[in-house]
Amino acid sequence: MKPELAVIGGGYAGFAAAVTLARSGARVTLFEASRTLGGRARVVEKDGHRVDNGQHILLGAYSETLRLLRLVGVRPGVLDTRRLALIYPGAADPCELRAAALPAPLHLAVGLLRARGLDWADKLAMVRLLRRLKRDRFRVAPDRPVAALLAETGQTARLSRLIWEPLCVAALNTPVAAASAQVFAHVLRDSLAAGASASDLLLPKVDLSELFPVPASRWLAMRGHAVRTSEPIRAIEATGDGGYRLDGDPWHTRYDHVVIATAPYHVAPLVGALPALAGLVEQLAALRHEPIVTAWLAFDGPLAFPAPMIGMSGGYGQWAFDRAALGGPDGLVGVVISASGAHRQISGDALEIALLGELQAILGPLPALKWAQIITEKRATFACTPGVRRPTGATPEPGIWLAGDYVASDYPATLESAVQSGVAAARGILQRCGLKENSLFRID
Ligand SMILES: Cc1cc2nc3c(=O)[nH]c(=O)nc-3n(C[C@H](O)[C@H](O)[C@H](O)COP(=O)(O)OP(=O)(O)OC[C@H]3O[C@@H](n4cnc5c(N)ncnc54)[C@H](O)[C@@H]3O)c2cc1C
Repeated sequence: MKPELAVIGGGYAGFAAAVTLARSGARVTLFEASRTLGGRARVVEKDGHRVDNGQHILLGAYSETLRLLRLVGVRPGVLDTRRLALIYPGAADPCELRAAALPAPLHLAVGLLRARGLDWADKLAMVRLLRRLKRDRFRVAPDRPVAALLAETGQTARLSRLIWEPLCVAALNTPVAAASAQVFAHVLRDSLAAGASASDLLLPKVDLSELFPVPASRWLAMRGHAVRTSEPIRAIEATGDGGYRLDGDPWHTRYDHVVIATAPYHVAPLVGALPALAGLVEQLAALRHEPIVTAWLAFDGPLAFPAPMIGMSGGYGQWAFDRAALGGPDGLVGVVISASGAHRQISGDALEIALLGELQAILGPLPALKWAQIITEKRATFACTPGVRRPTGATPEPGIWLAGDYVASDYPATLESAVQSGVAAARGILQRCGLKENSLFRID
């Protein structure tokens, strides 16, 4: 008898788990509460425009995400892949750091030598930080805020403002004053300090639902598995014989294992009837969250972006994306503001006006604005602070597993950590069931 397995949540973690489980020949059912697949990385339709809930960046280091994209048949062309380039155009504060087309570590060393807008003190400070981390094998003990690490290693104000602070906020979604230096060190280890392609920037040319969740759900359906959208699960009930039923499953199936692949703040109601998980609920309640704001601005014509992604500094905006250069419609721009900050104190209209001014200062006169939409994900990711306690994928309840970007890992909350956690939970189940991944299986 093949086991019956359920996954609750159709985000990147849930689909990574479902696809990995399905490769064993076990029967998999994935439940997603929403009509749209993708969770915190999904398409949003508004006023006839299709945009993402937030512009996402992937890195060449996202090896598990890239492996699963290939596995479910996603074409490599859906990602615009470029060497790392941190470009701040505009007269006020120009700076440009581009990785060179050379093997690591020369790609960064030569890129740094050639960098414009950074002086020798800035460049030496960057080398100092990376060498210190390398010497310490990227271990920061005791863990402390990134700001403390920057101060200890004598980082210049300009390098901190143009490179470290934006990188930290983009990767950890937590300001440097509060972000974990240990997790930041892991991010640097596996991107800037790893093989040259690890620091590549991969920008999706399709929407985030279409990038992985939709192809993964087709892949599952074609192999006889079920993906059930608009089906929220209310609670998990133990059957008393080692199995589980899901309140909300119209088929009342008995499952041998259940992967909870929701955001951490959606776990508590699901496991309320499982006393062994009371400690987990407490642990998750202690997690704090940080927002991400994306302003989508549709202009009546193209804009003079020097690259698809540019840095913004000195205002509210952090990064601006030219979606026209990424397969989107002409004139569509996304401006991202990660983590909490002064932008949360002003109205959406005031933010929109401020961002238009900031873009104009960088790009020159702008075409007429046709449409604007500000999307605020209030709990975009957990706050990645020093020593934050993240649960493991295996729980004290033998058949219940966690997957999601918040599950313990070297990484902050990212698509890659979500995918890794899904794969890990699935492999834990397969091991318990004595099953192996084998891509040839099909369920009938
Ligand atoms: C605006 C924004 C920008 C970001 N930018 C980046 C970036 O540039 N790079 C990067 O790597 N990461 C980025 N992230 C982080 C990344 O999106 C997340 O880490 C990742 O999507 C989390 O995936 P997940 O599967 O763990 O959780 P989720 O995406 O939250 O998926 C959970 C799913 O479970 C469903 N669900 C919840 N409760 C139930 C229930 N009871 N029954 C059934 N279904 C349920 C939800 O509807 C959801 O679809 C960003 C996040 C946001 C919000």
